[in-house]
Amino acid sequence: MRLLIVEDELKTGDYLKQGLTEAGFQVSLVRNGLDGHHLAMTEAFDLIILDVMLPDVSGLRIVQALRERDNRTPVLFLSARDSVDDRVKGLELGADDYLIKPFAFSEVLAWVRTLLRRGQNISAAELLQVADLQLDIAKRKVVRSGTKITLSHKEFCLLELLMRRRGEVLPRSLIASQVWDMNFDSDTNVIDVAIRRLRAKVDDSFTPKLIHTVRGMGYKLDEEQDNE
Ligand code: CA
Repeated sequence: MRLLIVEDELKTGDYLKQGLTEAGFQVSLVRNGLDGHHLAMTEAFDLIILDVMLPDVSGLRIVQALRERDNRTPVLFLSARDSVDDRVKGLELGADDYLIKPFAFSEVLAWVRTLLRRGQNISAAELLQVADLQLDIAKRKVVRSGTKITLSHKEFCLLELLMRRRGEVLPRSLIASQVWDMNFDSDTNVIDVAIRRLRAKVDDSFTPKLIHTVRGMGYKLDEEQDNE
């Protein structure tokens, strides 16, 4: 499980990172809103822990930006402020819960587990759709234009990732880590081959083409045509 922590207070950030790493999570810690915003928008996390009061881009802005892009990653807010206004605003913007500082680590861990469980329940029932392509996560079923498409497990995971992050250019390194659990310098040829197979099944006999190569960058899935 990958967690992102955005927290400018050194002590709190280190304390959270250490505790959650020891609890078995893969933790990325950034100390300002700009880096937090960038990572949250470009990489996939299972949960984001966001400080509300950041010196540059506020936690509220980050969660708003994510939800506008239809990114439903659960967000746990950390706040020193206990004003009802901020709390309501955060929840309205799509944060999943608030933790008021100071907090005990056991509290954080309990919330992290609850939100992750909730997130899984939501995604288990999910149906992703882009144009006439549908992916039913619970039933492991893919249909395009009414035609059932049979995919291997990895092809399914790859398509799910592309559809969840539709419109975003996904670098090969990200696809490798998300779908194959491989790291950056692995042989990315595996990904190109898998994309080719996926295209043959999902795109070749249909229009519009949904899977696009972004030269030198990676792949994206989107409805809009581009000039390849
Ligand atoms: Ca802060």
